[in-house]
Amino acid sequence: MSPLTRRTLIAGGIASAGVTVLAPTTANAISYPFTLGVASGEPAADGFVIWTRLAPSPLNADGLGGMTSASVTVEWQVSTDQRFTQVVRSGTATASQTWAHSVHVEVTGLLPGREYFYRFRAAGHISPVGRGVTSPAVGTSPSLTMLFTSCSHFEAGYFTAYRRMAEENPHLILHLGDYIYEGAASTTAVRKHSPTVEISNLADYRVRHAQYKTDVDLQAAHAAAPWLVVWDDHEVENNYADLVRGNTSPAGDFKVRRAAAYKAYYEHMPLRAAQAPVAENMQLYRRVRWGSLATFHMLDTRQYRDDQACGDGTKVCADASDPARTLTGTAQETWLLDGMRQKLGTWDFLGQQVFFAQRLASADGAKSMDSWDGYTANRDRLQRGWDSAGLRNTVVLTGDVHKSWASNLMLNYSTQDRIIGTELVTTSVSSGGDGNATDNGVSSLNPHVKFNKNLRGYVRTVTSPTQVNVDFRFLDRVTTRDYPIRTLKSYVIQAGNPGLQAP
Ligand code: FE
Ligand code: CA
Repeated sequence: MSPLTRRTLIAGGIASAGVTVLAPTTANAISYPFTLGVASGEPAADGFVIWTRLAPSPLNADGLGGMTSASVTVEWQVSTDQRFTQVVRSGTATASQTWAHSVHVEVTGLLPGREYFYRFRAAGHISPVGRGVTSPAVGTSPSLTMLFTSCSHFEAGYFTAYRRMAEENPHLILHLGDYIYEGAASTTAVRKHSPTVEISNLADYRVRHAQYKTDVDLQAAHAAAPWLVVWDDHEVENNYADLVRGNTSPAGDFKVRRAAAYKAYYEHMPLRAAQAPVAENMQLYRRVRWGSLATFHMLDTRQYRDDQACGDGTKVCADASDPARTLTGTAQETWLLDGMRQKLGTWDFLGQQVFFAQRLASADGAKSMDSWDGYTANRDRLQRGWDSAGLRNTVVLTGDVHKSWASNLMLNYSTQDRIIGTELVTTSVSSGGDGNATDNGVSSLNPHVKFNKNLRGYVRTVTSPTQVNVDFRFLDRVTTRDYPIRTLKSYVIQAGNPGLQAP
């Protein structure tokens, strides 16, 4: 790509759009503000969101990124080519201190199933170029390459997995939660959190998000493709449930803390205005169609859940099967089943956080109370709901556990009666550190669970109307930079025949 100049910007259409062109000399007013990179997200058939945040000093302790209270006009362009000779959409957005000088532009008017490129300009500075992809038109089902991952702890390892995801040039990337971690800085890790305390106020959440976004590998993954993001617990606090805090430290009103965490999350993600938080609430569960091939039902299993039964941890707990208990909340449960029953696409992907299949930890029936095993009636209603609707192509996508797993979903786990779906669990980007390739958690206690690997990486899926090809992709180390990625396990999921098949 040739160096960008004011001349190419004008030729590309910003001037013709009637926007005041900022002279390069104004660059001195704000030093380079695109330190957090650019991102796209929420693909639709006619557009996507493009995101950036102006932050010339991203780690300033006040969380304001080195910006003043003044609002700044940010110009944007979308082009069909990386050199921006064919600009098809352009405009301006206002970056204000209210939202930490982030911008979320909902680009429309694009063609379905196409690749585009976008960039921003503010105060004479030009951003890196990002790639966006529109979803295909309803009625069409072209092949989809989608990567998903979770659990990116900045201190636990380098973000090489993100770099490798960018190199695969996918149509779509899903992040299923634990995008940041809230904990205080460690003295022994490969990198060190900013700020050094456990984050619990808005300034600190902003600094932590900004620190993660300064990582060049993460920036590359965001620039490579549109993302669909959903959070898990660590974007706020470990193992919180609705407004029930996970532990008592640091002290303070948890409602205020959750509001701060949700606001900082929104400010740093390529989300639509429909997801902007209101006080301590944020509408994150949503549906994204990928033509007639697939529907992504992105779930929020934190904001509405009942507190963990019998407390956190792995327990034998009768309350875990209380039919009154919910992980999704009633409204989200109804919304999910109603949406699935519409049969909008061949495949239903449930992008969500915690382990979905039953997974016994020991013969006495001990299970994780933070996962769907702590809310079995909710799981049972969903599984029976989609099964009774005749849906045969449900694939649950999961994060959280820092290891890869693959399972058949069973209508009845104790009798092993009938496979009614498939679960793919991604390992972490870095959480847990290097891992151990020889670990194997597959157990006769859980005959429907077929695969487990304790290394870092992500999952690649290539979806067509007849099958999903699944590759579990791994790095041997993340405490050393730049390891290569390799596939250590592959499966095929056949349309109309739920469950894992050999490739
Ligand atoms: Fe995690
Ligand atoms: Ca988690």
